[in-house]
This record gives sequence, C-alpha cells and structure tokens, in this order.
Amino acid sequence: MKERVPVPDSKDEIAQLGILFNEVMDDLEQSFVQQKQFIEDASHELRTPLTIIQGHLSMLNRWGKRDPEVLEKSLQASLKEVERLNALVAELLTLSRAESEQLPAEGLEPSLVNEVATLVSNHFQVLHPHISLQQQLFPEDARIAMPARYLEQTLIILLDNAIKYSPTEQPSIAVRTAKEDGMIAIHVEDRGMGIPAEDLPFVLNRFYRVDKARSRKLGGNGLGLAIAKRLVEAYSGTISLRSTEGAGTTVSLTFPAYTGI
Ligand code: ADP
Repeated sequence: MKERVPVPDSKDEIAQLGILFNEVMDDLEQSFVQQKQFIEDASHELRTPLTIIQGHLSMLNRWGKRDPEVLEKSLQASLKEVERLNALVAELLTLSRAESEQLPAEGLEPSLVNEVATLVSNHFQVLHPHISLQQQLFPEDARIAMPARYLEQTLIILLDNAIKYSPTEQPSIAVRTAKEDGMIAIHVEDRGMGIPAEDLPFVLNRFYRVDKARSRKLGGNGLGLAIAKRLVEAYSGTISLRSTEGAGTTVSLTFPAYTGI
C-alpha cells in the first residue's frame, strides 16, 4: 500500500484516519485503473467490426454502383457486422451494469432453481431441436437468492457456449441440479471440443477467447463467461469450470440455499 498521507506512529484517531484515507485512495486508484482497462479493451473490440464495415463501405463506394455482386456481398457483410456490433454493445452494457453493482439487492427476488433450469432448457430444445439435451434435476425444488431473470441469463450463456463449442451434428448437453454440502449446484455439461488446460484459468476474464477467429465466427465476443461470473458472484454464488480438451466441458454454479421467507 502506498502511503499517500504520512501516518503518525501512534494509535490515536489521527493515525486511524490517516490509515483509512490511504486505504480509500488505494481502492479509488484501483477502480480507476480497472475502468481505464475496461474502456481500452472495449474500444479495441468495437474497432474490429467498425473497420470491417468501413472496408465494405469503401468497396461499395468504388465498385458497388456498377457491380451487383460487390453490392450484394458488401451489403450482407456490413449487415452482419452491424448485428455483431449491436450484440457487443448489449453485452458491454450488461457487463458494465453487473460490474458497477446496479443489480437488485440479494434475497429480494429469490428464484426456484429447477423451475428456471427447466424453462431455459426447454426453450433451447425448441430453438435447437437437433441437440440432445438431458435434464437431471433434484427431487424437490430449492430457492437461491438470485432473481430468476439473472439466473436465466446465466444459463442461456452456458447453454449457448455448450452448443457453440460442440462441433458435432448432434451436440450432447446435460443440465443437472444437485444439493451438495448444503449448497445448491447447477451443472451444464457438454461433450464438445473442451478447453486447453493452459487457457482454462483465463476464460472467465472479459474478452478472453481460446481461438479468437473461431469464436468470432461463431458470434462470440469473449464476454459471456465474464458476464456470468459477475452475475453469479453478485448473488453470493461461485462459478467454476472443468474441461478436457477434445472431451468436453462442465461449468458449475453453486449458491447457498435461500432460507428467507
Ligand atoms: P464467447 O462469447 O467468445 O463464447 P465466453 O466468455 O462465453 O466468450 O467464453 C470465453 C471462451 O471460452 C470462448 O471463446 C471459448 O474459447 C471458451 N469456452 C467457453 N465455453 C466453452 C465450452 N462449453 N466449451 C469449449 N470452450 C468454451
């Protein structure tokens, strides 16, 4: 810790105040550094689609009026990038809100774990009839102190990844809920490509992608797991990943059971 104001070598209120001041300044500095990094990372990510759109617009400007093939190709490519930009901005907003703790207070709106897990799984099965989606839920439903819409958002991110990174005709995915050591656990398991051991410690960091080009092609911005982590941790939960390259990935969420009325 930097000593911004000298702290007298005594145990009185002045010394206490000095220590407190230095701690507050440290926290402030750390939060400024983090914000600056966030803005730098976000700007960098926003630039990629913008540069691609710019490229296509100048192609259109030069050749598009005479060449219908260029016109069609560049228009489609630009539209796709605008779609990506939109999704990226929406994800950045969610992450920023989750990071600045603008979320409803814990315990105010508990959710039923099995109910939400079933809802999201059924929704995915309808949207992606080709996947084999198993549900194994504990017998009696339990509540956790996370609002249903955030638990839904988290499970959507995990199921979306399980499908995206399962490069087979029929991705096999399981959603399991369990009571483990007095905690409520939700596991999303796939048999997809897995994550190399050297990347595993970093995939929860924002903008981290194992294979940037591949993830981008699949529509990923490297923000999904960072958003999931912020949301889960805001409601006293934890998120962890187990993965074997070439064999599959299990993402596990754990929460204390909600005991309020
Ligand atoms: P993205 O939007 O790129 O998918 P995420 O933050 O959700 O970003 O995930 C970060 C990276 O972790 C992904 O780019 C991918 O490389 C890897 N990853 C996430 N989930 C899985 C999974 N279920 N199987 C394999 N790799 C995964």
